[in-house]
Amino acid sequence: MKTISILGATGSIGTQALELVRLHPDAYRVTALTAHRSREKLFAQVREFRPEVAVLSEPLRAEEIPEDLRFCRFLSGKEGLHAAAAEVPADMVLVAVVGIAGLQSVMDALAAGRQVLLANKEALVTGGHLVIRAAQAAGKPLLPVDSEHSAIFQCLEAANGNPATGILLTASGGPFRTWTRAEMERATPAQALRHPNWSMGSKITIDSASMFNKALEIMEARWLFDMPPEQIHVVVHPQSIVHSAVTFADGAVLAQLGVPDMRVPIGYAMAYPRRLTTGIAPLDLFRVGALTFEPGDPERFPALRLAGECLRAGGAACTVLNSANEEAVAAFLQEKIPFGGITRMVERALERLPGLPADSLEEIFHADQEARRVVREALAEEQA
Ligand code: NAD
Ligand code: MG
Repeated sequence: MKTISILGATGSIGTQALELVRLHPDAYRVTALTAHRSREKLFAQVREFRPEVAVLSEPLRAEEIPEDLRFCRFLSGKEGLHAAAAEVPADMVLVAVVGIAGLQSVMDALAAGRQVLLANKEALVTGGHLVIRAAQAAGKPLLPVDSEHSAIFQCLEAANGNPATGILLTASGGPFRTWTRAEMERATPAQALRHPNWSMGSKITIDSASMFNKALEIMEARWLFDMPPEQIHVVVHPQSIVHSAVTFADGAVLAQLGVPDMRVPIGYAMAYPRRLTTGIAPLDLFRVGALTFEPGDPERFPALRLAGECLRAGGAACTVLNSANEEAVAAFLQEKIPFGGITRMVERALERLPGLPADSLEEIFHADQEARRVVREALAEEQA
């Protein structure tokens, strides 16, 4: 029996992790669950999984807690998130919150010696060097949940210690894979939210459409696998069957394949080094038929170019990219800017904020605030 704390329990990853707990009640006990705003969903999860602690980002008055849930300690805000990451007993902490909000929780969990299952890529994008150092100090290497990084991790597990010479990071290409720049400029949130292969939270779905998701994943791979950006190659693969691959000195390429279902990489991290039964049928290659691959197009998807530029620039450049993107995606979803505006906002923040340091969490959070400020100012100018 392993105990698990799930941060971001009400989201796409969080609910799928709970589905696996439901399938394996003898293997996992949930000790903490956290949510941002969805209180009714959190209450239902507390009722079913009976954690010791439940956290809502927003304040919750005692009288708002349903009678039958009084066995659970309800907390809120930053203190609550800290408790769920580092104080509540847990063998594993699944960080499945969205955005840079995950960075502090990852650091808290590692400082408390917890095994971190990492869905929140933004933590590595913004604080990769600090997170990896903390994981090494804790002696608890991160277990990736992101499907591409889980695939790479699984391929490296099979490498018998042979170093990889490169990573082939696959990308579906998202809903706008074949669209022109002019078509994308006018794309609506509803069109951008229609991902061809994966059902995910709204922020990562928009990131998939702009390919900022792949930019963030290049950064994530750089830190998880200590791989320079020049050796990480994006391969657009519209079927999302090959979840990524690793190349070796002898010319061999190892890839991990499967149906696109996040319960596979979530379960791999939860049960590592074992494999869980998930109820998911293995890949039917006859049904899949053809697998196709094409290069990513940095002309239409500038995020692909910006990833390498930010990694090479160092300092807080990746944080500026990430946080400007978070702010711009929110503005796009509220229909304040067109789809093309997301990339323009990120480029503007990178131009305005060169050379910010990122040696500490404080400096990273400062860069985060600065990037958001630049985007908000640009939004205000556009609306004036
Ligand atoms: P989601 O929007 O569906 O869920 C996010 C969860 O975090 C919710 O429980 C929400 O209540 C909570 N949350 C939101 N903002 C918060 C904040 N500021 N502070 C604390 N909690 C907050 O997101 P998701 O799609 O499940 O993605 C979660 C993370 O996993 C992201 O970093 C994403 O990039 C990564 N990821 C997701 C998928 C996927 O298939 N959904 C795949 C790979 C990686
Ligand atoms: Mg991914």
